[in-house]
Amino acid sequence: PSCMREAALEIPQVRWEDIGGQHETKQLLREAVEWPLLHPEAFQRMGIRPPKGVLLYGPPGCSKTLTAKALATEAGLNFIAVRGPELFSKWVGESEKAVRAVFRKARAAAPAIVFFDEIDALTIKRGASGSSTSVGDRVLAQLLTEMDGIEPLVNVIVVAATNRPDVIDPGILRPDRIDRLVYVGPPDLVTRGEILRIQLRKTACASDVDIDILADRTDGFSGAEVVALCQDAAIEAISEDPDAEFPVEEKLLRATGAGQVVGRLRNYE
Ligand code: ATP
Repeated sequence: PSCMREAALEIPQVRWEDIGGQHETKQLLREAVEWPLLHPEAFQRMGIRPPKGVLLYGPPGCSKTLTAKALATEAGLNFIAVRGPELFSKWVGESEKAVRAVFRKARAAAPAIVFFDEIDALTIKRGASGSSTSVGDRVLAQLLTEMDGIEPLVNVIVVAATNRPDVIDPGILRPDRIDRLVYVGPPDLVTRGEILRIQLRKTACASDVDIDILADRTDGFSGAEVVALCQDAAIEAISEDPDAEFPVEEKLLRATGAGQVVGRLRNYE
């Protein structure tokens, strides 16, 4: 009997246009993932191997997961999502099996992206726990085996995400493994404006809401915090007057003014 949960297979519905800003990230990923899939013969002719893996790193809530999903949606790839900590199992040996199962599934679903969120959980530097044969080490070894593959990874791309690139075992980042590192940073002023615009498109909100002021006042917010702000304002507006027409703007301004969320991101580093 298997005690493991199946890795979820889903077809994401995130378009590039749903992600504010991050233009450079989007471009880098298209080059690394889409081009080799669209032009395999060109890569062969040039004698270069398409990348097997990409690491997205940066502070929480700033669109790493969203980006991985958009990549799958836009390139027409299946998407297998695994959270690093999920792979750890209390039963000896099950964790490696779980890693094998993920890759088996990915090969069967190719072309596909395997998305390892919180990859730092399974690649804490070897030996960090003191013992040389910890579960973490064996899971990592299994991951490396899968990527180096006797069975080649055909049209399977590993996308990993972490807030803590510093604790990742360097072995995993070596050439021909997860060797493209892409920083996904906090949203700047323009990006916050775009996120607000994307979010407020769906909200009963006056058309003259001053996005620029809101973008300015949300300095230090993560993308997720900007989205949460819009949702909180909408909920507050509904609770005060469910029939009001455009109550959201004032709430937004008040919420940003309150400064509750401001600064949380600044403490990251
Ligand atoms: P974590 O490290 O916590 O897993 P993450 O970087 O993977 O975070 P996401 O899960 O991609 O972050 O983002 C969380 C939510 O924040 C998204 O579902 C989305 O609603 C919002 N968000 C963050 N950044 C953006 C952005 N640039 N454009 C639009 N929405 C964003």
